[in-house]
Amino acid sequence: EMFGQLTSGLESAWNKLKGEEVLTKENIVEPMREIRRALLEADVSLPVVRRFVQAVSDQAVGVGLIRGVKPDQQLVKIVHSELVKLMGGEVSELNFAKSGTSVILLAGLQGVGKTTVCAKLSFYLKKQGKSSMLVAADVYRPAAIDQLVILGEQVGVPVYTAGTEVKPSEIARRGLEEAKKKKMDVVIVDTAGRLQIDKSMMEELKEVKRALNPTEILLVVDAMTGQEAAALVTTFNLEIGITGAILTKLDGDSRGGAALSVREVSGKPIKLVGRGERMDDLEPFYPDRMAGRILGMGDVLSFVEKAQEVMKQEDAEELQKKIMSAKFDFNDFLKQTRSVARMGSMTRVMGMIPGMGKVTPAQIRDAEKSLKIMESMIEVMTTEEREKPELLAESPVRRKRIAKESGKTEQQVSQLVAQLFQMRIRMKNLMGVMEGQGGSIPAL
Ligand code: GDP
Repeated sequence: EMFGQLTSGLESAWNKLKGEEVLTKENIVEPMREIRRALLEADVSLPVVRRFVQAVSDQAVGVGLIRGVKPDQQLVKIVHSELVKLMGGEVSELNFAKSGTSVILLAGLQGVGKTTVCAKLSFYLKKQGKSSMLVAADVYRPAAIDQLVILGEQVGVPVYTAGTEVKPSEIARRGLEEAKKKKMDVVIVDTAGRLQIDKSMMEELKEVKRALNPTEILLVVDAMTGQEAAALVTTFNLEIGITGAILTKLDGDSRGGAALSVREVSGKPIKLVGRGERMDDLEPFYPDRMAGRILGMGDVLSFVEKAQEVMKQEDAEELQKKIMSAKFDFNDFLKQTRSVARMGSMTRVMGMIPGMGKVTPAQIRDAEKSLKIMESMIEVMTTEEREKPELLAESPVRRKRIAKESGKTEQQVSQLVAQLFQMRIRMKNLMGVMEGQGGSIPAL
């Protein structure tokens, strides 16, 4: 089982919460210690573990109660979403040239599985309907060239070779020319691997890079090497500038450290993973699936998600009732503005779709900024003041205090109060229920 040890290490974290009613600062101490231990044993780099544990505990303490969901299940969900984030969130697709032949340059130390990846990758592309050609630029090991030729035959793609007497950058250049002539969609260049990083290896790679102007420069790293893999990605990125990593040997008894550290440590995504010696054992790296596999608790995750949805639904209904009875208070105000802000970020995503951009990034930034200002004022209100905005409308002393404690001006506080009453009216209008209380903006 992949990452089996990590999975069972995390299990002992959930177990510590059995019998608890809610997550508290106190009762998450033990589970967090287990999570920390499990990650360190999985060879995740220490700074990454620290940040991760911090992020999870912050959320665990702040998380609201969801009816029917037990604290251990809630923690599973939080750890899952933080794991996904840690691994980069979304799947990071391979980039291709807009037209002509795309160039993928592969680098990596000896024995990591680079030559195998070359062939796997061309097979992977073939399945997507893309033609490719392999270029053997590892001139130091004639065996590597032979191996590439054999693998190329196996997957049915041409391999360009020029022996061991020609400079790698020259082989790469000629290979690319040949691939262009043959109208290949992609050319994959295999470069020399060394046992360790050395200056001449980096120089050679830089030269090959200059000769090719690659679409992708991917460093192949071995998952068995744990956080060392993340360090290698960082070094290669600083030295030559890479676009991502390919993680091999995930099928072995690797502990997970590489998969969890690479993105966070190097800032570069893992684009593909190799999970075996067969030619079709190469697939995209899906952070959410990977996190799911690590936790091994798919049913718990979907259960918590459903419970959250039900909660949101109930929240919305509650809000509507409040609006109808003009009880809309600062707590609702906050919920409302926050969900509008969330929609703002959604608009940002939609803005990337041609023909859909309406809201400018500046507008979104402004909205987010004013939400922050509002939040800081609402935060210093007492529970009573939040629930009865009238108290603030009536008392300049209270407004003054809020201004002082939130570091905002009295005018800003007054504006906020007026805004809430405006919102009450607007919502009531929307609902078509003009009669009833709460129909006027107080003079402030
Ligand atoms: P290179 O020196 O980096 O070119 O490494 P090779 O491609 O020659 O691979 C080294 C060894 O690792 C070979 O025995 C491969 O079969 C093996 N290998 C490569 N990728 C994987 C993988 O994803 N899983 C497993 N189990 N073995 C792999």
